[in-house]
Amino acid sequence: MTRDPAETRALAAALARAARPGDLISLVGDLGAGKTQFAKGFGSGLGITDTIVSPSFVLMAEYRGRLPLFHVDLYRLADAAEALAGGLIDDRQAEGVTLVEWAERLADAMPAERLDVVIEGTGDDPRRITIRPGHASYARYLEMLPGTDADADGAPTTVEAER
Ligand code: ADP
Ligand code: MG
Repeated sequence: MTRDPAETRALAAALARAARPGDLISLVGDLGAGKTQFAKGFGSGLGITDTIVSPSFVLMAEYRGRLPLFHVDLYRLADAAEALAGGLIDDRQAEGVTLVEWAERLADAMPAERLDVVIEGTGDDPRRITIRPGHASYARYLEMLPGTDADADGAPTTVEAER
């Protein structure tokens, strides 16, 4: 559980240590759950110094860090066809990490080989954040979770991890 946005950002920054080129991360949660907060933290974990904002009016925003970060928000998209026609598939994404808010709107058009981050709770509620690798190659993210050996700085959050 994370109790405030800073904890969600800290968790995301810790997970970003596992990031590799070509990774795809789906952020699922209600409006106001904290998907954009997660993206901000993930970006700072990649060493991105530019401010990450909700890309609601553009399909995809690109930031420079240890790896490029491609931040996609499908909130305003009606269906997968519109998203794909809008350039979600871009060669440059192979060199960076793609974070997709509202990825469930793509349904089967979203590659199964991805990491799912599900954020439950809104408003002042604590958030339950579930990290679920869709493929064995994404299990490395679980090693970054607090309480595991790989977590050197002992972030103050606990997270439910499901495989
Ligand atoms: P989304 O992108 O999922 O619509 P945002 O990240 O834009 O959501 O907004 C989340 C809102 O919830 C922010 O106003 C943030 O301050 C607030 N918030 C409260 N508690 C938390 C928490 N534990 N984690 C993330 N955000 C939180
Ligand atoms: Mg958002």
